[in-house]
This record gives sequence, C-alpha cells and structure tokens, in this order.
Amino acid sequence: MSPYRGRAIPTDRLTLTEAGLYCPAGGFHIDPVRPVERALITHGHADHARAGHGAVMASGETLKIMAARYGEDFAGSSEKATMGESLRMGDVEVSFHPAGHVLGSCQIRLDFSGFRIVVSGDYKRQADPTCAAFELLPCDIFITEATFGLPVFRHPKAEDEIAKLLKSLRLFPDKTHLVGAYALGKAQRVIALLRQAGYDKPIYLHGALETLCRLYEEEGVELGPLEPVGKRGKELAGEIVIAPPGQLADRWARRFGDPATALASGWMRVRARARQRGAELPLIISDHADWDDLCATVLETGAEEIWVTHGAEEALVHWCKTAGLKARPLNMIGYEDSGETAESSGA
Ligand SMILES: [Zn+2]
Ligand SMILES: [Zn+2]
Repeated sequence: MSPYRGRAIPTDRLTLTEAGLYCPAGGFHIDPVRPVERALITHGHADHARAGHGAVMASGETLKIMAARYGEDFAGSSEKATMGESLRMGDVEVSFHPAGHVLGSCQIRLDFSGFRIVVSGDYKRQADPTCAAFELLPCDIFITEATFGLPVFRHPKAEDEIAKLLKSLRLFPDKTHLVGAYALGKAQRVIALLRQAGYDKPIYLHGALETLCRLYEEEGVELGPLEPVGKRGKELAGEIVIAPPGQLADRWARRFGDPATALASGWMRVRARARQRGAELPLIISDHADWDDLCATVLETGAEEIWVTHGAEEALVHWCKTAGLKARPLNMIGYEDSGETAESSGA
C-alpha cells in the first residue's frame, strides 16, 4: 500500500496545460495535443501521437508507428522506452508498462519518491493476440480514459463477434464480406482473431491498411496470408476484405457489387450507429475497456483519486464518487471521443 494512503494527495505533480498533461518535475508532457519540447507518448493513435515535438519518448513499436505515419522526421529526436524499466527524469522516476490497447501501447507511471501517478492512455482488459496484455499498476492517482464510460457499453467476447462474421460467410458464400476496421490496431486484431478461429484463406486489404499490417508482422505479430485488393472487385466474391470504416459507404466499395458490410467497433453496441455507418453486420469489437472493465480497473489500482479523460467523463466520475473515491473530469480538448470522428482513435 502506498505510503501516501490517507494523506493529502499532492495534485500539482501533473498539471493540465493547453498542450495537455504536463509534469513540471520532469519537464515533459504526456500525449500532448500540440507541439512541445519533450513528449512522452502512450501509443500511436493520432489523437495521442502527433508530429512536431522536440523530443519524443515512447515504446519502440510506437516510435515505428509514428515514423510510418508521419515520416522518419516526426520529431527532433526520439528515444525508445524499455518496457518496465525506470528512468530518472528530473525529480521523477518514469516507467512504461503495457496497456493492452494496440501494438506498443503503454501506460506511463510517474513515481515521486513513492507517490505514484499512472497515466493509462487508452487501455483494455480483453485478451488481444496482437499486443501485450494490460498490466495492473497500483497507484495513488489513476488517470483513465472513458471512451465507453456508460453502463450501456458492455463488450461481448470478440471471438463470438468473429464467429458471426464467419457464419455470415457460410450463409452468403457468393458475397464479398467487407469489414470496416481502424487502420491501427483494430484491423490487425480482426485478422488475428479470424486466424485464431481457423480462417486460413488470404485476407484482402484496402491500400490504407497495408503499411501498418506489414509493421505488425515485422514486430512479430503473425497475420497469415494477406493480399492487396488492388484492382480486384467482383472476383473477390466469398472473400473477406478489410478496409477503413469510412470506405464501407464509399464509391470504392461498389467494385464488389453487393457486398455484405460489417464494422468492427465498440460503438456497434448502438444499432443506430451501425445503420448510420452503413454496416449490415455490426461486430462489437473494441480496443477500449468497457464500462465494467473501467470500473473494475479503477478499483483494482487502489488509487484514491481518479482523473477521467476522453469519453463519457461525468458518468465515470459520478460512479467513482459513489464508490468513495475522489474523481474529476479532465475535459481535455483534442482527443477524439465522438466515435463519428473516431477514425484515428481506434474505438
Ligand atoms: Zn485515445
Ligand atoms: Zn487509442
């Protein structure tokens, strides 16, 4: 148990600035939304990892993802954080730990002589064959996301959702099955889940997904046979094609004739969203913790104070207070939270 248990919590160790969370003792921002001198980055989604910082520290995978998206010169300099290893920065010990969200995603722990703050970034507790599992970090202040911070959001088992896709493929063997999935994390997880379910045929990729799928494979995540869609269309009848969600209702999709359209996202719990996004087959597969896992994680960290960021902040803040914890919404601007625009955040 923390030596700070029951004592006044120092809340000035991490402050909220225009650019985002800032640690004065270490002289760095975490996931800043505008260019800063020194940034620690939790993961590669565009709302957390932006180009143009002076110095960046992140996991090796996140640095590679940033280079793939923004070019090798995405920051003045970059330093790879070794998972689980503490590093002194000014007056604070910093360490990176797996968040279970996407490849290379980390929680960042700040240790001020025993007083610990954990910035979780985005995270999930569900198993994911494409990234290291979430590590529970006891702390005094836990900063949690709340993308799905409403009790209505309960994610079913991802395996069961994939079974629905495979069942549809059996029922409609003449249809191309076009699956919308975010380029970083979701696309690779859907592919890996299909492989786990025994699907070993080539899976066809929209061009926008090729780079990151290749990067995952270079990092040791096996995705099986992948083929670019290229100029192909109707000849992909009966095959699975993965594309960014925005492509489902796009002209591009017409090349497949009358495809069966699926969309993999936590937002698919809400039927109206599925209809609006043009998905006949909603697959509730999310890389974020659902309501139950948010609440459980908050309690398991043992933190006395919870700061809540992007998503349904007020509901989780209210729940924390009911559970006897201090809690506050961070209301940070610059993080995607609507799901309508969540292309970059991989919900
Ligand atoms: Zn996020
Ligand atoms: Zn994310």
